[in-house]
Amino acid sequence: MKTVRTIKEMKDLSSQARGTRKTIAFVPTMGFFHEGHLSLMREGRRRGDLLIVSLFVNPTQFGPHEDFKNYPRDFESDSKMAKEVGTDILFAPEAGDMYPPDHQTSVHVEKVTENLCGKSRPTHFKGVTTVVLMLFEIVEPHVAIFGEKDYQQLVTVQQMVRDLHMSVEVIGMPTVREADGLAMSSRNTYLLPEERKAALSLYRSLQKAKELLQKGEQKADRIFQEVKTILQSEPLVRIDYAQICDAKTLQDVDRIEGDVVVALAAYLGKTRLIDNLVFRNP
Ligand code: AMP
Repeated sequence: MKTVRTIKEMKDLSSQARGTRKTIAFVPTMGFFHEGHLSLMREGRRRGDLLIVSLFVNPTQFGPHEDFKNYPRDFESDSKMAKEVGTDILFAPEAGDMYPPDHQTSVHVEKVTENLCGKSRPTHFKGVTTVVLMLFEIVEPHVAIFGEKDYQQLVTVQQMVRDLHMSVEVIGMPTVREADGLAMSSRNTYLLPEERKAALSLYRSLQKAKELLQKGEQKADRIFQEVKTILQSEPLVRIDYAQICDAKTLQDVDRIEGDVVVALAAYLGKTRLIDNLVFRNP
């Protein structure tokens, strides 16, 4: 595995690969790898001749009072893990190169970023789409792999790619969970033992939602009430949002008709966790 630090070298390697008709698979990340990240890399390995993973803690997707400074970082361990799953290139650019002092361009995807996390993190998705567009431009992937764990991010990137007629294929992969059901996240490392225990209520509430949906429940409010009751049974959980949305538009639904996503965000102490259930209506 080669580690690349500069944008120029990454661009040269990508265009060389394209020149020799290699398929480039790309996994963008912020590092501190866990099995969720590795599952995307394995899928990338399967789909591409060249697997490129980026590791960049993107400052523009963090709000002013969020955890950019404290975001967990461990380059040595990440590098080892990425190598073990067959990554060819680990691209780890510097923030100052990605965003030089005169940087002034950003990408804003409208409707799908308004609801859910867009409400509590109003500048987040603009940061995400801007950096993803930059990375696509530098890495020139044929296929890019994202996790359904960040479902609104996946939908937003897919929308951007469609709207801007970009030629990359964006693939979503299922959420990888700990043995007890907690969705893997680099931020789980912040949790105190009692918060870690209480965080399981997110998974439990989604399991309940799934059970109701599978039984054919059509009233979103009935599902919402059950989800809320489970989350509220844990005093350490402070709900940011719990919503049932159309899986494509991410607008709230009253009745379950097409595919839906039950999306949650909650604070455990200072740690904000998200999780979701995508229900594809049979
Ligand atoms: P991050 O490093 O948190 O920005 O995540 C990088 C990529 O990994 C994103 O596409 C995430 O959706 C994906 N990801 C994060 N956690 C998981 C998980 N538990 N299962 C599957 N994919 C994940």
